[in-house]
Amino acid sequence: MTKCKVCEKPRDGDAVYCHRHLKAYSNLEEAYGRWRYALGLSWAEYLEKVAKTGGIGVWAREVAEDILREL
Ligand SMILES: [Zn+2]
Repeated sequence: MTKCKVCEKPRDGDAVYCHRHLKAYSNLEEAYGRWRYALGLSWAEYLEKVAKTGGIGVWAREVAEDILREL
């Protein structure tokens, strides 16, 4: 399996995501640092919110949905 977990693009090295989704993942993590502080959301609650609202972009939403499937 050498494809991104979310799309059909090849992934980067040992990563589970392609370049674009990897970047989206780090954006997710970075934004979570702020959201957790402001709203007291758990990681899963935060991901659900992102998946619903798509507030930080379609790539991040796809990554959020992927993570939620495995929680
Ligand atoms: Zn991808």
